[in-house]
Amino acid sequence: MLLDLSRMDRVLAVDRVTCRVTVQAGLVLHELNAALARQGLGLTDMGDVDVQTVAGAISTGTHGTGRDSGALATQVVGLELVLAGGSVLTRSADEHPDVFAVARIGLGALGVVTAVTLQVEPAFLLTADERPVRLDDVLRDVEQLVADHEHFEA
Ligand SMILES: Cc1cc2nc3c(=O)[nH]c(=O)nc-3n(C[C@H](O)[C@H](O)[C@H](O)COP(=O)(O)OP(=O)(O)OC[C@H]3O[C@@H](n4cnc5c(N)ncnc54)[C@H](O)[C@@H]3O)c2cc1C
Repeated sequence: MLLDLSRMDRVLAVDRVTCRVTVQAGLVLHELNAALARQGLGLTDMGDVDVQTVAGAISTGTHGTGRDSGALATQVVGLELVLAGGSVLTRSADEHPDVFAVARIGLGALGVVTAVTLQVEPAFLLTADERPVRLDDVLRDVEQLVADHEHFEA
């Protein structure tokens, strides 16, 4: 069965005190980022592109280059799932943590994710330093490069 959640694209709740945001699963990441920026908030980390849906990105284990942050799914603190029989389940780290852990990167196997609550953080700026470097030098210095930079990719 092919489902199109593109019209489930609303931000449902924003809590600026706890830095938690609940969105519908079909919201696209660049729209999420714009909505967060308007609230002075931002995702901890994300991948190279921002065209995926929130549900697609978390369900497939999309990750960024953050040294100290996990994949996008680790920023998920709550999920709403519709199961094959049509029942609606809500899951979080406190409520059925085992199902929650699997459902965060579920590849659609557990049901259809319809809403996601994300732990975000106050907006921040990153300075990018991009340059050509010889492969031998990168390999020699890789541990130091990772230690010196919050995000590193080669
Ligand atoms: C140019 C490019 C750059 C990329 N860069 C990175 C990167 O830097 N890091 C990285 O990790 N990945 C990267 N990716 C991979 C990208 O993040 C994945 O394609 C993305 O996670 C899938 O999201 P989608 O919305 O496009 O997929 P979809 O096709 O919508 O979903 C993919 C799968 O997720 C599941 N799913 C989707 N929606 C739901 C739902 N509502 N409920 C339950 N299951 C669902 C299904 O199993 C579906 O088959 C890149 C991809 C491209 C094309």
